[in-house]
Amino acid sequence: MSQFWSDIVHHLTPYVPGEQPQISGLVKLNTNENPYPPSPRVLEALRAEVGEQLRLYPEPTGRALRTAVAKQMGLTAEQVFVGNSSDEVLAHVFMGLLNHGDKPLLFPDISYAFYPVYCGLYGIAHRTVPLDAQLALNVDDYRQPDAGAVIFPNPNAPTGRALPRAEIERLLKAQPGTLVVIDEAYVDFGAESAVPLINDHANLLVVQTLSKSRSLAGLRVGYAMGQAPLIEALTRVKDSFNSYPLDRLATAGAIAAMDDTPYFERTRRAVIDSRERLAESLRHLGFEVLPSQANFLFVRHPAQRGGDLAAALRERGILVRRFDQPARISDFLRISIGTDAQCDALVKALTELIGETRHAAV
Ligand SMILES: *Cc1c(COP(=O)(O)O)cnc(C)c1O
Repeated sequence: MSQFWSDIVHHLTPYVPGEQPQISGLVKLNTNENPYPPSPRVLEALRAEVGEQLRLYPEPTGRALRTAVAKQMGLTAEQVFVGNSSDEVLAHVFMGLLNHGDKPLLFPDISYAFYPVYCGLYGIAHRTVPLDAQLALNVDDYRQPDAGAVIFPNPNAPTGRALPRAEIERLLKAQPGTLVVIDEAYVDFGAESAVPLINDHANLLVVQTLSKSRSLAGLRVGYAMGQAPLIEALTRVKDSFNSYPLDRLATAGAIAAMDDTPYFERTRRAVIDSRERLAESLRHLGFEVLPSQANFLFVRHPAQRGGDLAAALRERGILVRRFDQPARISDFLRISIGTDAQCDALVKALTELIGETRHAAV
């Protein structure tokens, strides 16, 4: 605390990201990074961009990257906004599109923990909507006459459960006057994207990131897609904040990543296959495993406290994520999908841990 702080700083509750310990040899399954390296073409593009031109500011509208994203998504560049990570894009979305005075923004009670943080930062009225007993999201719960806007991830995080596109379309049609933002950070691991609905629905904005399915969490690139008036709102906020959010290296790497479809297909398929294998092994150990369309599993063991398991895994050099709040998910572990070798190390450790406590109980 300091006398020099602006008033608002005293009242902020910042987001707490998963641990990034600087220790080598850890099996790091706690922040949903991709276990595979970025495409070799990305590394080539980054090297090619290192040079004299770094003296110059980048092109301020990010047109080349917006065009590369548009090409993959069947959109026009005017329907794409790019930014320095999807977290920053989301911040602009909250500020520019989700603040509707007394009419609250709706999002799930169990969801991405950054949403309430942005609401605090920008003073946005909000109301959480409970997931059902299976931790599934039902779109009918979001048909509330006083809603200012709606945001949720699809697949949801940290549950991994996804809605089909038809359900999202049903919500868009039910309330054409309410903006719906779909955060598709994990969509490439098996869910249906809402992007094909953009041309028919003025009230849809879709946000994606290169951090997960394109193996580029370190490059910090994200984007939003929607009809041109929504994109214009984001551009107005961005140009009141930072004219050049994406540097030349990030832009070059991101374009190469968007263009390398074969590598993208191969690595996302590998993650999906490992997820199904790991889910099977965990069920075999007695875990309840929620159906996941993401690059992580959300699991709970009927006879084990989540906190105890996470701590015991950590002692064995394996990091997973656990959430204290809300209480009904405090025994769940969120496990990022690693390489098959990392998944095997996790299963081996859990087999020993669960065997030990079974033994101790008799
Ligand atoms: C990881 C994640 C993001 C943020 O991605 P960045 O582009 O790395 O900032 C956004 N939303 C959800 C739901 C995520 O899990």
